[in-house]
Amino acid sequence: MKFITHSLSVYSVQSVVSILLSRIIALAIFPAKHLAWRVHIEIVNTGTELLLGNTLNTHGAWLGAELFKLGLRVARQTCVPDGEAIREVLVEALGRADVVLVTGGLGPTSDDLTREITAEVLGLDLVQDAAALASLEAFFAIRERPMASDNLKQVLIPRGALALPNPNGTAPGVYVAGRPQGAIFLLPGPPRELQPMFLAEVAPRLRSLSGVAVPPELLELKFTGVGESDFHQALDAHLAGIPGLEFGYCARLGEVDLRLIGSAAALQQARALAMQHFAPQFVSDDGSSLEQTLLRSLSQRGWTLATAESCSGGLIASRLTDVAGASAVFTHGFVTYSNAAKKELLGVAADILDTHGAVSEPVARQMAEGALTASGADIAVAVTGIAGPSGGSPDKPLGTAWIAVAQRHGATRAWRVFQPRNRLDFKQGVSQAALDGLRQCLLDRRPED
Ligand code: ATP
Ligand code: MG
Repeated sequence: MKFITHSLSVYSVQSVVSILLSRIIALAIFPAKHLAWRVHIEIVNTGTELLLGNTLNTHGAWLGAELFKLGLRVARQTCVPDGEAIREVLVEALGRADVVLVTGGLGPTSDDLTREITAEVLGLDLVQDAAALASLEAFFAIRERPMASDNLKQVLIPRGALALPNPNGTAPGVYVAGRPQGAIFLLPGPPRELQPMFLAEVAPRLRSLSGVAVPPELLELKFTGVGESDFHQALDAHLAGIPGLEFGYCARLGEVDLRLIGSAAALQQARALAMQHFAPQFVSDDGSSLEQTLLRSLSQRGWTLATAESCSGGLIASRLTDVAGASAVFTHGFVTYSNAAKKELLGVAADILDTHGAVSEPVARQMAEGALTASGADIAVAVTGIAGPSGGSPDKPLGTAWIAVAQRHGATRAWRVFQPRNRLDFKQGVSQAALDGLRQCLLDRRPED
């Protein structure tokens, strides 16, 4: 479906008729509430460095988020090396899309061919743009630098297209509007040039396209200690019944994000449903991680935290200290991998270790209580487990771990978790369970249940 009718260039009568016809047919077939998702937008990223892996392609994510705010979505993103490769992809994208956003390749060097190839594909000459030339000359004059003759190629624009001002660099962007193939925006590669140009020149031109007065909202709810399949089973049928709601899940080890897109009313209804089933597992609705949420709650109480880790080898402390400002809460991280360290640093009793073994409830309890005493913190968590690949037994198989939380005021709690995974996933899973256990203790819930 072609939406772009606000053209700079001259339309043939035939193309106008076909645009209008396809628009009328589309409106008849699709309900208006999904209009925004039917504007087919494609991104073409150019840059050999993006495919070699030494530059992270951030334009797709950034543009995707900005377009979403306009009620629009990216249907496809393609990344090609510098040079000729853009030709084929551009032809393909123009065959499908209402809008194509091309990034990079507008510079003065020989591998920057985006402008030239776009003009060729559209069958247009390149002509010098007077306003763009004046800006380019001013750019160099202000900086008291001579302009290389190669820079002149940057102000060549396909005939009938519009040069988009680039106050942050030398290459203007290009807007080829409303041709039957779809509109094209050529944007410079450097993010500090592309982003302001998108906001100033592209967003206003696309805003009217979404066809919705109020763009839908996005809400991501993070849960922990519950599987994706639990959500499917408990929620899918109910969520599917909420008009205009789109939902999806993103699962990682030990946590699930529920993604909700729709009107404010639809999101409120969906959120209430999710909370009705999974309130105890709810972590955040603002993208905060489990450790961020936990540190925030501790800081609000004015509490300090210590950790005593065996099988997780310091991962809990590492995750906590990934959060800026952790020092206000997190005071001590004991990594007591050997029995000797558990005895010396945490005061775990030798006979308890001998009788029950290092991976046991009494040892986990003594580790947590020992960490509390040694650190003077308000709350401490301890973990001890068997990561493998060796060391398991029938009554303590690989993946067994004991977690304990000791508090200055309140009883120590301990519970067993079973995470039979490879070493790294085991450590991640155990650290998640420990952080979640702390979170639950703060809510006066019993993690052992
Ligand atoms: P220049 O005039 O700087 O050559 P250009 O429009 O030709 O600009 P490129 O040469 O493709 O753009 O890219 C310039 C720089 O911008 C790259 O070195 C890279 O650091 C950055 N860049 C390009 N594309 C991306 C992208 N998709 N994501 C992140 N950074 C990018
Ligand atoms: Mg370049």
